Amino acid sequence: MRSNVAQYDLTAPTTLDAVLEILANSPENYTPIAGGTELMVALGAGHLQPRKLISLWNLEELRFIEEATDAIIIGAGSTFTDIRNHPAIAKHLPLLTQAASWTGSIANQNRATIGGNIVNASPAADTPPALLVYDATLTLVSIRGERTIPYRDFHLSYKKIDLAPDELLHSITILSNFKSYKTYIRKVGTRNAQAISKVALAAIARTDNNIIETIRIAAASLREIPTRLYATEQSLINKPLTPKTIAHARTTLINESKPIDDIRSTSKYRTAAAANLLEEFLRSL
Ligand SMILES: Cc1cc2nc3c(=O)[nH]c(=O)nc-3n(C[C@H](O)[C@H](O)[C@H](O)COP(=O)(O)OP(=O)(O)OC[C@H]3O[C@@H](n4cnc5c(N)ncnc54)[C@H](O)[C@@H]3O)c2cc1C
Repeated sequence: MRSNVAQYDLTAPTTLDAVLEILANSPENYTPIAGGTELMVALGAGHLQPRKLISLWNLEELRFIEEATDAIIIGAGSTFTDIRNHPAIAKHLPLLTQAASWTGSIANQNRATIGGNIVNASPAADTPPALLVYDATLTLVSIRGERTIPYRDFHLSYKKIDLAPDELLHSITILSNFKSYKTYIRKVGTRNAQAISKVALAAIARTDNNIIETIRIAAASLREIPTRLYATEQSLINKPLTPKTIAHARTTLINESKPIDDIRSTSKYRTAAAANLLEEFLRSL
């Protein structure tokens, strides 16, 4: 049953400090809302439990993209439109530009934030595979201070994340030193727009004389959380790019995957498609 909007309170402070103060005093009562593209769906479906929402939409402190000497720092309140239109991201982090451009529709991208995508913690979300292969770092804030964690450690189990109730995701920092890497990202879905992925794979690798020196591979919809495929990576490091290596990596990926059957796809299809995506990337090297 649809929720009755009149039963919900929304407060919209204009400073980050004011939001953090409210969260610190009453963390169990408030749910942060950024673009609202996840939460409004939950509200419409009658699944949004907390009655008090605290808006992050007006916080300029969360909506920025900064190019530092060796990194790009993206405020959690940046929308996918902000990200896909940013020249430094397009130049240094093209996998993120690509992921932002195929998230939902244009209307959705004007509203949906990267912070909401990360904190919502869907295993099928579009930005996590790119963030994982770029080895992004998250900065989390509360009135207790600031802490920084590698994004690869943020997802603990299905929809469980390393974020305290009084904390907000402040920003995402990604090194901008991927020039010497070959990069890859591909989403398999029912359509190009307005489709949640059946499976998606992102990867970066550096080779020397046909030997794989460094490789990172990450996927959406292959496990209960957005996931790095560490065993598959290990099966490839220091190996020559031969059909035998590729076949072994495919088998490792299949063994490492635990996808589910759901309305969007089957476990069998997801695993087979992911192995094909990996092979496509490895052959492109
Ligand atoms: C029509 C439609 C199509 C979609 N298509 C896609 C798609 O193709 N790919 C995809 O990945 N997603 C898709 N989505 C999902 C959604 O748009 C994204 O996950 C989006 O990035 C969510 O961001 P938001 O700002 O709207 O989050 P909100 O709905 O505002 O919040 C989502 C969650 O994040 C929390 N949160 C938000 N910001 C912060 C913060 N800074 N700190 C702490 N917690 C925070 C909220 O409390 C909430 O739990 C789609 C949604 C719709 C409605």
